Amino acid sequence: MPQDNKTFYITTPIYYVNDVPHIGSAYTTIACDCISRYKRLKGFDVCFLTGTDEHGQKIFKSAKEQNKSPQEHCDFIAGKFKELWTLLNITYSRFSRTTSEKHEKIVQEFFKKVLDKGDIYESFYEGLYCEGCEDFKGEKELLEGSLCPIHKLKVQDYKEKNYFFALSKYQDKLTKFLNENPDFIEPPYRKNEVLGWVKEGLKDFPVTRQSVSWGIPAPNDPKQTIYVWFDALIAYLSGLLDENEEPTIKNSIKKYWSSVVHIIGKDILRFHAVYWPCMLMSAGLSLPNKVFGHGFLTKDGEKMGKTTGNIIDPYKLIDEFGCDAVRFFFLREITFGKDGDFTRENFINRINSDLANNLGNLLNRSLNLVIKNFNGTLNMEGKTTGNFLGLKEKFESTIVGFEKHMDNLELKEALDILWQFIDNTNKAFNDKVPWKLIKNNEIEAAKCCLYETLDILRNISILVNPFIPETSLKIYKQLGYDKLDEYKEWGNLGWGNNKNIFSVKEGSLIFPRIDTKSPISN
Ligand SMILES: [Zn+2]
Repeated sequence: MPQDNKTFYITTPIYYVNDVPHIGSAYTTIACDCISRYKRLKGFDVCFLTGTDEHGQKIFKSAKEQNKSPQEHCDFIAGKFKELWTLLNITYSRFSRTTSEKHEKIVQEFFKKVLDKGDIYESFYEGLYCEGCEDFKGEKELLEGSLCPIHKLKVQDYKEKNYFFALSKYQDKLTKFLNENPDFIEPPYRKNEVLGWVKEGLKDFPVTRQSVSWGIPAPNDPKQTIYVWFDALIAYLSGLLDENEEPTIKNSIKKYWSSVVHIIGKDILRFHAVYWPCMLMSAGLSLPNKVFGHGFLTKDGEKMGKTTGNIIDPYKLIDEFGCDAVRFFFLREITFGKDGDFTRENFINRINSDLANNLGNLLNRSLNLVIKNFNGTLNMEGKTTGNFLGLKEKFESTIVGFEKHMDNLELKEALDILWQFIDNTNKAFNDKVPWKLIKNNEIEAAKCCLYETLDILRNISILVNPFIPETSLKIYKQLGYDKLDEYKEWGNLGWGNNKNIFSVKEGSLIFPRIDTKSPISN
């Protein structure tokens, strides 16, 4: 890891362990991994945090139904998350669990800070509570029969003595902050949603529960446990602690808290864009730089759900098509931020057209010509190729555009511009007909054509690394390089920015075409 470099802290949500991970969590985590890898390529010191939110009544009940202790249940599900992240080649730096001892200490310290500030007070709460959301519902939001619109569960009447967080105190401060930091919530259409909520007026909310035993005891009243959302958000701090480091908030924020990006699904925007900033203000801590709320996934145009059976099983999908194909599809197909749809047909078409055909063919055709006609070694002997393919300008604008999109978290747009360029390269390659040049003994011209193509592929293998890391390395190795240095490689991008010689290796196809008639298992 580089020393003294700019830090970058990115988080997935702290996933709730009510069930094994689903494709939605996989999608968020793939996106975060892509952004992390990109930042590392550019030399940032990245901390990428994911983790599991393990408290609350729902977990307690879930465990009981399976005759497990809550901790056993949490250990099992947290293990499933880690397993899936390994299968997806996720390079997280920290896995934060809210049942860890250090997390409990940080939550209690945070709670005390807010208490000392005078922002936590005792009161009675009466309301309608959805156990699915672990949150209160306004009467207006409910469906007929007092059902939660998200969970279709009947909400429960609820009255008890609780401690409340004085959210309303932060109405003006939050409004001011949101106005002064127009990039805090992205994409922009989500910001409007949040501004709407704030305008309606912020209401104090209970931060403890009497009836929930599976949680962190409130330091001022151990009969109460801390509300699961208040608890879980603080995992973004506790997860930053090094192992064996004394668990204090001061230690947790010392390195990475200056540049923070939270990537979340749009369903938990209120917690991250309203509750969390106000909690941090109350505790006297600086606020994150960005909360990015992405959209929902559907399958075959329909909402996914366990009860309807309309689901995408991430394990099966990886097993059938491989990790890179899965990563690529979701980042390439869906505008990051918007809702997106999965169909098996689109999936296969996308992999075939972009990876097997467009990129795969360019690589194979150029490698094969070099292997067959130049014994695998293309030596320019100090000569430059000039701009033989006529792609130099387009190449340079592609890199600039790619970088701009990546910096704006426009992941799909970054791939769009890159694949357009791969398409251009294929066309230019075909127009020059290098196999004919060889046949006609125009060896210098053939060498220029192949050399520029290989060097473009070298650049592409670096640019696609955040998206399809395994494939990126495969290409890199076939081009004769041993190792892609994840912290330095960005500096090696550039037209002809190479050692003037390629010693390529024969390799397997990076993406064999998928038979469109392969049996359906997803
Ligand atoms: Zn609900």
